[in-house]
Amino acid sequence: MSRYWSKVVQGLTPYMPGEQPKLPNLVKLNTNENPYGPSRQVLDALRAEVGDTLRLYPDPGSDQLRAAIAKRYGLTPPQVFVGNGSDEVLAHVFLGLLKHARPVLFPDITYSFYPVYCGLYEIGFEQVPLNANFEIDINDYLRPNGGIIFPNPNAPTGRLVPLAEIERLLKANTESVVVIDEAYVDFGGTSCVYLINQYPQLLVTHTLSKSHALAGLRVGYATGQAPLIEALNRVKDSFNSYPLDRFAQAGATAAIGDDAYCAAMCGKVVATRTALVAEMQALGFEVLPSAANFIFARLPGRDGAEIAAKLRERSIIVRHFSKPARIADFMRITVGTDEQCAGLVDALRKIV
Ligand SMILES: *Cc1c(COP(=O)(O)O)cnc(C)c1O
Repeated sequence: MSRYWSKVVQGLTPYMPGEQPKLPNLVKLNTNENPYGPSRQVLDALRAEVGDTLRLYPDPGSDQLRAAIAKRYGLTPPQVFVGNGSDEVLAHVFLGLLKHARPVLFPDITYSFYPVYCGLYEIGFEQVPLNANFEIDINDYLRPNGGIIFPNPNAPTGRLVPLAEIERLLKANTESVVVIDEAYVDFGGTSCVYLINQYPQLLVTHTLSKSHALAGLRVGYATGQAPLIEALNRVKDSFNSYPLDRFAQAGATAAIGDDAYCAAMCGKVVATRTALVAEMQALGFEVLPSAANFIFARLPGRDGAEIAAKLRERSIIVRHFSKPARIADFMRITVGTDEQCAGLVDALRKIV
């Protein structure tokens, strides 16, 4: 704390990203990165960007990338917004579309960046409790609000809201924006992007960090009808006109164009997840049904923090959230390679 800080900064409680350890040889299952590298086409596109053109600013509108995303979903480029990771996209969404007199609604157990953006932009919010099975119940959101946002599948639970339920929400909630954060949808969900042309209040966000194995490139995007996207462009051009550098634009365009690779790697992760869930259940763990590249699991009667600490002694890092109290016995474990998950199960067998 310093007397030079603004009032807003004095009141902030920033997001705590998962650890990026400096130690080598750790099995890193804590931040939901993809265990497989990006597509060859992406690496080639990045190499092709190394050259004299780096002295020039990148395209401020990322036109090529937005055209590729639009084509993939049958949308038009004015229905696509891109940003420096979906975290940046989400920040602009909170300021541009969710800051209203009424509070924004999101689950009590969800991506912990949402309340942080509310703090930064001074947006009122209400946290809607998940039900007893750690599910989002759409009925709990059918009330006046300044906007609704949740990930689908949700994080850190991994649980999926069926598409028909999202549509029921959209039919009932027409007066404010509904944001579906589809960071993990490629690992087992069905995207609701295809509802965009029917629902002017629907915005869907995506990231290349997880399913496209590009967390290091920082690219995310939002899709929605043009007036919603225009709001995000107004925020962007009041903040940073060049959020995606030349590498990010070239690499992301190649990634979007190589759907086959992404689908194959997601398929491998899903197969590994299925096997991991069975092995953990055999050890006595309760594992929530996951449609994501991570699982949320607890061993009844044991503290999640304690098991996570014991895993760390064996060079395996997973994520533990001490709050809220009802998830303190859970661990969120990223699905790694078959070999990494076998090592995890082996370590858990010794610990429990
Ligand atoms: C990882 C994650 C993001 C952020 O992704 P980036 O594109 O890497 O910023 C957004 N939402 C949820 C729910 C996530 O888990």
